[in-house]
Amino acid sequence: MNQPISRIVIIGAGQAGAWAAHTLREQGFTGVLTVVSDEHSVFYERPPLSKQVLAGEMAPKALQLFSDESIAAMNIDWHKPARATAIDPREHSVTLDSGTVLAYDKLLIATGSRARVPVQEWQSLPNVFTVRTLDDAHRLGARLQAGKRLAILGGGWIGLEVAATARKKGVEVSLFELGERLCARSVRPEVSDFLCELHQHQGVEVRLDCGLIELVATDTGTLNLCRAGQVLAEVDAVVVGAGADIAAELGRDAGLATGQGLIVDDQGQTSDPDIYAAGDVAIHPKLGFCIQSWANAQNQAISAAKAMLGQDSPYQDDPWIWSDQYDRNIQILGTPATTDSRLVLRQSGDNQFSFIYLDNDGRLESMIAVNDAKLVKLGKRWLKAGTVLPADQLADPTVNLMTLKP
Ligand SMILES: Cc1cc2nc3c(=O)[nH]c(=O)nc-3n(C[C@H](O)[C@H](O)[C@H](O)COP(=O)(O)OP(=O)(O)OC[C@H]3O[C@@H](n4cnc5c(N)ncnc54)[C@H](O)[C@@H]3O)c2cc1C
Repeated sequence: MNQPISRIVIIGAGQAGAWAAHTLREQGFTGVLTVVSDEHSVFYERPPLSKQVLAGEMAPKALQLFSDESIAAMNIDWHKPARATAIDPREHSVTLDSGTVLAYDKLLIATGSRARVPVQEWQSLPNVFTVRTLDDAHRLGARLQAGKRLAILGGGWIGLEVAATARKKGVEVSLFELGERLCARSVRPEVSDFLCELHQHQGVEVRLDCGLIELVATDTGTLNLCRAGQVLAEVDAVVVGAGADIAAELGRDAGLATGQGLIVDDQGQTSDPDIYAAGDVAIHPKLGFCIQSWANAQNQAISAAKAMLGQDSPYQDDPWIWSDQYDRNIQILGTPATTDSRLVLRQSGDNQFSFIYLDNDGRLESMIAVNDAKLVKLGKRWLKAGTVLPADQLADPTVNLMTLKP
């Protein structure tokens, strides 16, 4: 017979931790709900950090996922700022850096990921920034003033968003990417080319294939970017946008099954039946890799929270993320296209177009839609239903795609 659940602990109070706590209370959990967070600010969403917050256009309150009243009503036993340092699955306990030991019946690991800084010494250099937390965004935002020079190391989504925001504030931006193209892990070359042109058009100096960069602090407080002893640029600040490290160490050290992140089933359950994981830290059950996206963190956490309470709640969402750069809303739906995927281009307007990728049978694999949220909505339904799509109609902007019923 199942034991009654009276104590649930959540580690991490980001997108996944917040939605899990909300769902547990909404679904009627009345026991002790403990949340451990190593950040002061909790239950806030990160996408605006590299966009509106960096631009100085959004106050911290607006990032909060729930109102103060709703959070108070959740009646949470908070431990913050506090770091969980160990999980003992046999004892059903979590140890904090303060020495406090928390007992649980069910545990959710929602520790997310953290900004990767490939060279450790960079962390101690002045004027080197990452963008992961509210504090990061405020610190960097204060440095982005017109006429200042910024270098971005890494041409992924966060680096590109920071570039766009900085240009909006009149900052001179140079972007250095080790690889041959931008966002190479998530999009095909034609999309990388579009992104590169977009940024160059806005005055960003894009340096692809940049080689290994060294950062050297100068006597005047600036930073020199050097390669093989040669100074490539002198700047006032550097943003490292070199991807994220999955924060799976707690689960790994506790002996849970791991790959890139924590392995979970479609209910968010790890290899230990009383430990769940959701968000960036959990491997997507259908795809087999971690997805770092706002929607994934929220929806996987909702599903895991319900499962902790004994409800059958499979999580099977297709990956979806968005990015805002200048006046372009870019949405990426589905798994990254392969070289076998068939590309269909749909140009619906000057600044509205989509890269649509089909498999051999004409089913949607993925799409990158620029300023076309409606098409993405439809795409989600096509993906779910496995709709076979006629390429000629997709490419024809005069065809109303709503007629292609899922
Ligand atoms: C700048 C930025 C912009 C983004 N923009 C977009 C976007 O436009 N669209 C999109 O879809 N996605 C975007 N994302 C990704 C999205 O925000 C993340 O996928 C999402 O925040 C993941 O939520 P999470 O709860 O899994 O992890 P997180 O939000 O990282 O939360 C995890 C929390 O756990 C804490 N923690 C970790 N270890 C411990 C420990 N041992 N003890 C206590 N606490 C711990 C962390 O400090 C953190 O507060 C963006 C991310 C960033 C950083």
